[in-house]
Amino acid sequence: MTNFRILIVEDERIIAMDLQLQLQALGYIVCGVVASGHPAIEKAIQQRPDLVLMDIHLEGAMDGVEAAREIHRRLRVPIIFLSAYAEDATLLRAESALPYGYLVKPVSPRELHATLQMAMVRFGIQRDSDEQVERFCKAMEASQLEVWEWHVEIDQMNVFSLNEETLLSPSSVLSETIRHFLQQIDPRDEPAVAQAIEHTSQGGGSFNVSFRLRADAPADTRWMEAHGKRFDDGERGGRLIGVMQDVTERRRTEEKLRQAVTVFESTAEGIAILDAERRVISVNPAFSQLTGYPAEETLAWPDIDTLYQTPHSAPFLAQLRQGEPQTWQGNANYLHKNGAALCIWESISIVPGADGVIGNYVLVFSDISSVLAVQEQLDFLAKHDPLTNLCNRRMLHDHLEYELAQATRHHSMMAVLLIDLDHFKTINDSLGHGLGDQVLAIVARRLQSCMRASDTVARLGGDEFCIAFGDIDTLSDVDQVAQKLLAQLAEPVVLEHMTCYVTGSIGIALFPTDGASVEELLRNADQAMYGAKHAGRNRYCFYAPEMQKAAEIRLQISSGLHEALEQNQLFLVYQPIVELATGRVQKAEALLRWRHPQHGDIPPSAFIPIAEECGMIGDLSEWVFDEALRSVRAWRQDLHSQFRISINVSALHFREQRNHQRWLQKLADSGVPGDALVLEITEGVLLDADYAVQEALERYHAAGIRIALDDFGTGYSALSYLKRYRLDYLKIDQSFVRQIAEDPRDLALCEAIVVMAGKLGLEVIAEGVETAAQAAILRNNHCQYVQGYLYSRPLPGEAFLKLLQKNGGIAVA
Ligand code: C2E
Ligand code: MG
Ligand code: MG
Repeated sequence: MTNFRILIVEDERIIAMDLQLQLQALGYIVCGVVASGHPAIEKAIQQRPDLVLMDIHLEGAMDGVEAAREIHRRLRVPIIFLSAYAEDATLLRAESALPYGYLVKPVSPRELHATLQMAMVRFGIQRDSDEQVERFCKAMEASQLEVWEWHVEIDQMNVFSLNEETLLSPSSVLSETIRHFLQQIDPRDEPAVAQAIEHTSQGGGSFNVSFRLRADAPADTRWMEAHGKRFDDGERGGRLIGVMQDVTERRRTEEKLRQAVTVFESTAEGIAILDAERRVISVNPAFSQLTGYPAEETLAWPDIDTLYQTPHSAPFLAQLRQGEPQTWQGNANYLHKNGAALCIWESISIVPGADGVIGNYVLVFSDISSVLAVQEQLDFLAKHDPLTNLCNRRMLHDHLEYELAQATRHHSMMAVLLIDLDHFKTINDSLGHGLGDQVLAIVARRLQSCMRASDTVARLGGDEFCIAFGDIDTLSDVDQVAQKLLAQLAEPVVLEHMTCYVTGSIGIALFPTDGASVEELLRNADQAMYGAKHAGRNRYCFYAPEMQKAAEIRLQISSGLHEALEQNQLFLVYQPIVELATGRVQKAEALLRWRHPQHGDIPPSAFIPIAEECGMIGDLSEWVFDEALRSVRAWRQDLHSQFRISINVSALHFREQRNHQRWLQKLADSGVPGDALVLEITEGVLLDADYAVQEALERYHAAGIRIALDDFGTGYSALSYLKRYRLDYLKIDQSFVRQIAEDPRDLALCEAIVVMAGKLGLEVIAEGVETAAQAAILRNNHCQYVQGYLYSRPLPGEAFLKLLQKNGGIAVA
């Protein structure tokens, strides 16, 4: 009984002293004697006695039961009560402190000794058992296990949540019926759990189930795993006892792993996992499919470099190892097992191992050969014209920049040719766009066939092409190429069911003489092409600086025309047309003038062709029509009621059906009869005429409007259309009249025209009559009307009116 230390809590000093002496005599050590509750607790904490002998009635507010409870709670020291009382109420209270004994005073030393001995033995056993439970609980806590038991007969399900603080305390037990327990399980898993419990409770043995708990949202789902076994406790009946564990994290990890494995196995991208020395550890099926190497073969490689056409360099790998993040993506070339090169988009990641050193490399790649092929095709489409496969404008620009740099470096000459097909719109309109496209494709092939592979041939759009070439020694080299191109173009174009003819106009600009930049060369080649068109088409023309001047004037005129219309800079002048037989002015031709604020009067020949090019002819024609209509309405009252005004109509304007409709409407609205107007058209209108032109002529005729064929003899003069179309006057061009007195051939032509017109029921107006001799000859030849400076220059409206009023409508020659 050595070193057994006892704390005595007794408020009666004598009894306390007696006890102390007794205990010491029995060989115990008394480590303290106190008389009241709080000092007893303090002393116990301080001394850590092996046992406390506790009186129930103490000094102060706290009695022995309370002090004992506190000491037991804090130190789990065994307590034996010593009391003079043993009535039921005291005993009942004393029980709550879980004492190891209850002695009623006075106590004999033998009784005291025996009780202490028993308490010590029991306490030893209790302590071992507590330690075991504690160990067990800690283990359960560490493994996050809960203990459950189900009393089958009484249907009570207890779940114990174990942790150090609530070691099997009643508050940590959840009791419920099995049905209630099962209700908390996800309906998908509940039947399996119920069946396992049922099966085990009836047949014995053990079970093991996983299940989900009911959750409000899928993301909150928790997975549990339960093990259980049936135990039979005789009269107490059967029990199922087991453990339960929250395995959500494990399930999630497993799930992720399963997904990763599926991705690895089924992805279309090749994956290889390498060790730190870049030896293959594993490859996926896509790897083998893309590279042709079975997995076993790759495992035998010294490292992954075997796969590459050009392996990554050592410095690259070193850089990758130090990089942050340690991932690289880019193009690489692999070698297929069959020797073919593979264009690859590759990603290399480093998986860090322990201590931050490299654990693995992960290689992910996809075969981008087909993507590259599509990209190449897109590149081609972006730089080429889909119809002809020639370079497009963008590509031409790049080529020209390059060629120009070359030519500059080598001090050599370079030529830029712009080719525009002549009258291609007519071909397109008459054959349709499908055949028009075929013609363009044939033309493109022909142009290309004339050039070397290193020369640039491009289609700029529509019927416009551009050719550039260098290595030029003399200008005659360029001449030869241009002639060859024109000759090739002029060859008949044979289509499916027909043959057509195309010509082209070529403008040429040379480096370095005609420009130092791509833009300048293209612009000047365009000027030159314009020159070729004006010189009569189907020819080539070298750029000359004057063209630039002309182009500037053209630009000024086209932009000035808008202002001219808005600011009333336009006006009409009228030139009398004289009836030869009577000398009377029966008609006048309205001629357009532009009084430019800076440049003075600009003749129509200078701006009408430009208005036609820049799309302003419609507005001009409309203005002229309105103005002329106003004049003729007034003059029909002032001069005579049969007076007529001739208006010149542009061929472009005439081709638009809507224009005729509008003019006829305006005429009707004005109340002026149709026979007050003569429309002067040129042979060009009839040359390209189709059904629409014929219909327009018919409608004008029906409205009483006369049609004059202007400048007769200067165009194509296909006489068949004189018969085909309904015309009223032929105007002999002044170029025939000018020499009529001197040149018998001109005279003969004029005579012939008058005779022919007479036979066809047309009247003739001779233009540009400047001398009395010319007038006499025309009169002798029965020409009906004349117009020219001999009678009057074209005059502004008021002057014209005065002139006629002065002479009573008789022209004074
Ligand atoms: P055009 O219709 O043949 O007009 C006759 C031209 O000859 C006028 O030139 C007139 O001034 C000129 N002329 C008249 N008598 C004589 C003469 O005795 N000797 C000489 N040397 N010339 C004479 P203009 O006014 O310069 O007009 C030139 C052309 O411009 C016209 O030729 C016509 O085709 C066109 N034009 C004039 N006004 C208009 C218009 O309003 N609309 C359209 N579309 N074209 C017009
Ligand atoms: Mg005219
Ligand atoms: Mg004329």
